[in-house]
Amino acid sequence: SREVQLAARPVGAPKPSDFAVADVTLPPLQDGQVQVENLFLTVDPYMRGRMNDVKSYTPPFALNETMTGGALGRVTESRAEGVPVGAYLLHDQGWRTHANVTASRARVVPAIPGVPLSAYLGVLGMPGLTAYAGLLRTAEFKAGDTVFVSGAAGAVGSAVGQIARLKGAARVIGSAGSAEKVAHLKDTLGFDAAFNYKDGPVTGQSVAQQLRDSAPDGIDVYFDNVGGEHLEAAIASLRVGGHAAICGMISVYNATEPSPAPRNLAQVIGKQLTLRGFLVTPHYDLYETFVQEIGGYIASGEMKFDETVVDGIDSAPGAFIGLLEGQNTGKMIVRLGNL
Ligand code: NDP
Repeated sequence: SREVQLAARPVGAPKPSDFAVADVTLPPLQDGQVQVENLFLTVDPYMRGRMNDVKSYTPPFALNETMTGGALGRVTESRAEGVPVGAYLLHDQGWRTHANVTASRARVVPAIPGVPLSAYLGVLGMPGLTAYAGLLRTAEFKAGDTVFVSGAAGAVGSAVGQIARLKGAARVIGSAGSAEKVAHLKDTLGFDAAFNYKDGPVTGQSVAQQLRDSAPDGIDVYFDNVGGEHLEAAIASLRVGGHAAICGMISVYNATEPSPAPRNLAQVIGKQLTLRGFLVTPHYDLYETFVQEIGGYIASGEMKFDETVVDGIDSAPGAFIGLLEGQNTGKMIVRLGNL
């Protein structure tokens, strides 16, 4: 098996030398385990936090050990009842080409005609469920709401905006980091408005001003993937009684100093806002409903999803670094070529 290990804890943005790729021999299978050949790995923003040596909601990666994360593999050997050779398995032993997986901690998934298996790592997996639960449960979205989502061209954000549209949002606004992404949101994903937050420093327009221009009458729901200045802008634009689901704050993951924004937090009082942080983990009770519903939207063509695919285990660190730099549209996927 070839595996990616954490070689050094990054300071600021991760760099290639923070990772090592090594060949290892897998131990013999134990009862209840299966061996899988991974087809796809996922790199996700939360992994940046796991590279730091601090307690968080997921424990830190250990130095010089193989990193873990979501992966989709095919079972090549089985010592687990009910998980036959050939089954597709969604598991948490990513960042390696092959893995011994405890079957009770993994999920067998069916191949869906017309949908790539990698969708289980994106729109039909953890990021998709994050969008679904965060919008519908945490933000308490209802038809007629005007919704703003940051990180809108990414895996979570692109699902949030489309689910809001399909469930009757009055208006959906997104922000992203390039003109191409903004055009894609409006032309292909059905956003009513979108802006490039990187234009700000060029035009002198703050994110708050860009949001005001896109939503002159304010917003009811904010889905936060970015934090910092975006959260400040959303607080300024939220109407009285508005809700925000605080999903992620990618603008601060590489920061070595705390962000001064949001500087207008006191507005939550007068506007009686609800800002609620959430993790996807406790929402897996929704998983079957979510797959049915979102799978249906995808099959009917009402919902679209994008993937940026990088090939080979040796490219996984670069894919992760690229994700944090915004090189992806939709889900960033590492394909291992074992299909
Ligand atoms: P994305 O597919 O959205 O990829 C990350 C994107 O973040 C990049 O493409 C880039 O897009 C954007 N980005 C990077 N730096 C900045 C910055 N400084 N300011 C604004 N945008 C930036 O990732 P995911 O969809 O997987 O995750 C989105 C968010 O959701 C993350 O914050 C993540 O931590 C969070 N999350 C939370 C979960 C939970 O349980 N609470 C579960 C899953 C994800 P651009 O070109 O637009 O800058």
